Amino acid sequence: MNIVSVAKTAPPQFDVEAVRRDFPILSQQVNGKPLVYLDNGASSQRPEAVLQAMDHYYRETHSNVHRGAHTLADQATTAFEGARKKVQQFINAPSARQIIWTRGTTEAINIVANGLAEKLKPGDEILLSQMEHHANIVPWQMLAERTGAKVVPIQITPEGELDMESFHSLLGERTRILAFTHVSNALGTINPAADMVAKAKAQGVITLIDGAQAVPHLKVDVQALDCDFYAFSAHKMFGPTGIGVLYGNADLLEAMPPWQGGGEMIERVSFAGTTYNTLPYKFEAGTPAIAEAVGLGAAIDYLASLDGSAMQAAENTLLQRANELVASVPGMTVVGTARSKVPLMSFKIEGLHPSDIGTLLDQQGIAVRTGHHCAMPLMEFYEIPGTARASFAFYNTLEEVEQLFTALQKIQRLFA
Ligand code: PMP
Repeated sequence: MNIVSVAKTAPPQFDVEAVRRDFPILSQQVNGKPLVYLDNGASSQRPEAVLQAMDHYYRETHSNVHRGAHTLADQATTAFEGARKKVQQFINAPSARQIIWTRGTTEAINIVANGLAEKLKPGDEILLSQMEHHANIVPWQMLAERTGAKVVPIQITPEGELDMESFHSLLGERTRILAFTHVSNALGTINPAADMVAKAKAQGVITLIDGAQAVPHLKVDVQALDCDFYAFSAHKMFGPTGIGVLYGNADLLEAMPPWQGGGEMIERVSFAGTTYNTLPYKFEAGTPAIAEAVGLGAAIDYLASLDGSAMQAAENTLLQRANELVASVPGMTVVGTARSKVPLMSFKIEGLHPSDIGTLLDQQGIAVRTGHHCAMPLMEFYEIPGTARASFAFYNTLEEVEQLFTALQKIQRLFA
C-alpha cells in the first residue's frame, strides 16, 4: 500500500495592520472609542490611494472630457477612459464599449429596465427573487406597470438560500427577464449565479445580475458568468460615491433606446432629427463623474495590489469567528445561514429592537446598519421589521469581531 504524505500548505497570510494604515478614516475615535467600522455593506471606506488619485486629478488634470482641443482636456480624457479600461479588466468584459458609467447600481438597473420596455408585452414575466434589494425590484415593477408584464419572485429557504425548485418551476415560457442579486446585502448569501444564468439563457431569457455586494468580496468575471448585464457601485468597493457601472451585452445595448438625452450621447443633432452616439456614450448624456471614475480606477488598482485569495481567507476567518461567538450572546439569532456567504452577519436579539442595538453599539464606537436594509420583501418573509447587520471588509480585524460580541453581551445583559 502506498502511503501518500500530504504536505500541509500554510494558510495565506494577510497583513491586516498594514492594510488598515492605508485607510485614514479607520484610525479615528467615535464617541470616545476607537472606531470599529462594520457597515461596509452600506458603504466601504477609501484607501489613501483613492483619495490621492482624486485630489491629484482635481489639482493637476481637471477639464471636461472628450471635447477640448487642449492639453488638460486630453489628460482628463485619458484618465477617464483609462479608468473605463480598468473596469473592463476588473470584471473581464470583452470590450470597454460595454462599460457604461452610471451613478451607481440603482441607476444601472433603471437604465436596463427602461431600455427593455419594447421587448415586453402583457403577460410576460420578469423573474426576481425574494431577497432582492429594492433597487432590483422597483425598476422592474415600474417596467411591469408600463408594459403589462408581471414581476414574479423566486422563493427562498429559511436559511436564506434561493430555493432552486422554486427557480426551476418559475422559469417558464413566459419568462423574459431574470434579474437577481449575486450576493444578498441583507443576508450575505452568495447565489449560484453562473448556473442560474445558464438555465435562463437556455430558454432565451435576458439576465441581469446585481453585483453591488459581490465586487468587494469576489472575483467577478462577466464572461464566465455569461450574464447579459452586470451592475455595481464604486462606493461599496473602496471607491467614490456617485459612480457605478453597467456592463452589458453589446447587441442588447445597441438595441436599447438611450436613457437620457443631451450632450455627449449624440452623433448629430438637427431639428429634422437626431442620431445617437456609439456605445458606451449613447448612455452617458452630459458631463460625467470624471474624478469619481479616476477614483474608481485607483480603487481597482489598490485591490489588484492585494493578494486576493489571502484577502478572502482573512474575510472568511472574520465570519467564522463571528459565527463561533453567536452562542455567547443569549437570545441572539443569525438571520441568513446560507452555506456560501460573504463576511456579513444579520442578526436579532430577543427583547431588543434592531435600531436600539445600533444606537447602543454606536455609543461604543461600533458602526453597524439596522433596519430593513432596503429589502422589505425579505423582511416580510422572515416576519421581522428588520435586523442589525455587521458587514465586514478585509480591513476588519478579529479583535474588532470580538469587540462587537463583547459589546453585544453587555447590551443584552443590561437591556434585553
Ligand atoms: N443592490 C444591492 C444588493 C445593494 O446592496 C445596494 C446598496 N445597498 C444597491 C443595489 C443599491 O446601490 P446604490 O445605492 O449604490 O445604487
